[in-house]
Amino acid sequence: MNDDDHRQIRESLGAYALEQLGDAERTTVQAHIDGCIVCQAELALIAPLAAPLRLIDPDHLGTDLQPPAGLDEAIVARMRAERAEPRRRLRRWVPVAAAAAVVALAVGVVVGRALAPDAPKRPLEAVGIDELASEIDASAEVINHTWGMEIVLTGSGFRDGEAYQVNVVDDGGEQVSAGQFLGTGDAPIVCNLNSSVRRVDAARFEVIGTDGDVVLATSV
Ligand SMILES: [Zn+2]
Repeated sequence: MNDDDHRQIRESLGAYALEQLGDAERTTVQAHIDGCIVCQAELALIAPLAAPLRLIDPDHLGTDLQPPAGLDEAIVARMRAERAEPRRRLRRWVPVAAAAAVVALAVGVVVGRALAPDAPKRPLEAVGIDELASEIDASAEVINHTWGMEIVLTGSGFRDGEAYQVNVVDDGGEQVSAGQFLGTGDAPIVCNLNSSVRRVDAARFEVIGTDGDVVLATSV
């Protein structure tokens, strides 16, 4: 993966999620995303915000109109400033996408909640790491769902290009796959893994490298 490409594409993810890119650029971004787990992870975080943010039109955020309930005034001011500013270096997004990206980066989930107050809450539960390979820096959270347990794994130092297996071990000692991910070296990953083991039945989960070594283990 070319780092410059990655950096450039990453800047376009907001516009991509908001469907603001032209055909050629969209194809380029899509091709990169298909092969880049970091951009996939980032897009997964941005995508849920794209729908509500598409509804924000800076042209209608005039002095006589109120911003959507809960949208902080400072952010609105920043969106207006962003619009007023002359063309910036390499700026390719149309104003609404740039404004939306500022909002998304500045407040992320908060705006998502403000614009979608009825969205169900999914409490994240931090879990302690019992075992961790020295090259890896990671933290983990789990989410209790009716259909099983979701793991949100954040970290870096997973060997670049190596496939890692994540297993949930239930109370009876049975290992159940929660999926796989590719290591990206020093580049951080945010990875959501889903298992059919219910939260109450889960004892721990493990991340296993291709050599079979457990590189991360945690009790839940
Ligand atoms: Zn990338």
